[in-house]
Amino acid sequence: CGIVGVTGVGNALPYLLRGLEKLEYRGYDSAGVYLANPDGTDFLVKEKGRVSALVAEAQAQGVYGTAGIAHTRWATHGNVSVENAHPQASSDHRFHLVHNGVIENYQELQGQYLADVTFASQTDTEIAVQLVDKFAKEEQLSTRDAFAKMISLLDGNSAYGFLLMDSQEPDTLYVAKKKSPLLIGVSDHGNAVTSDAAAMLDMTADFIELMDGDIALVKPNSVEIFGADGQAVDRKPFHLDIDP
Ligand code: GLU
Repeated sequence: CGIVGVTGVGNALPYLLRGLEKLEYRGYDSAGVYLANPDGTDFLVKEKGRVSALVAEAQAQGVYGTAGIAHTRWATHGNVSVENAHPQASSDHRFHLVHNGVIENYQELQGQYLADVTFASQTDTEIAVQLVDKFAKEEQLSTRDAFAKMISLLDGNSAYGFLLMDSQEPDTLYVAKKKSPLLIGVSDHGNAVTSDAAAMLDMTADFIELMDGDIALVKPNSVEIFGADGQAVDRKPFHLDIDP
């Protein structure tokens, strides 16, 4: 239902949790956060119910990360449970993914590509992250190419805002969207991704709007965007004037 991601701001956790609190008005049934660090440590925390439960648990566990992704879920496929909350992970926990929207052909993709994979959730979303992992491993694709290949297999009626992290590149957020809003927040002290500008205004008021079919790589000091044809594109940020 709502997505936030942050990289390059020191500890991403407070930005992510405040972002989820700002997204609460949209409604949700569960929430989660994944955080990664350059030294290889990473953390996944998910809770049913209120964002405040996730905040309490994340603080109790003392989790932190120089980059991270977070999500509030409004269940469409699979009941409301911790396993079905996002981020969803690949079986070996190399990749973590949050998703807004619906993958229409997830059962076909599961049957065709993932018959040998044991699933940890009942969500359509887990198929997407397991596919990225499969293509990265078995076809030795770069994460960007594995992500793009997964997206190319999604039925035309599917809707997605995706935010993916690869624990082997802990400072990079992989982003894609179709029929679901996603903005990249840019600043000189780190970059962000959000489904709603309001969730990231304490970090920046400068946003790049992604177009359907775009794939973006967001790093602490750079943003690269590729259009639906795979070619690099230059999309300028707009400045949001906020009332004090
Ligand atoms: N279809 C996904 C699920 O049910 C994502 C729902 C959402 O947009 O929050 O887990």
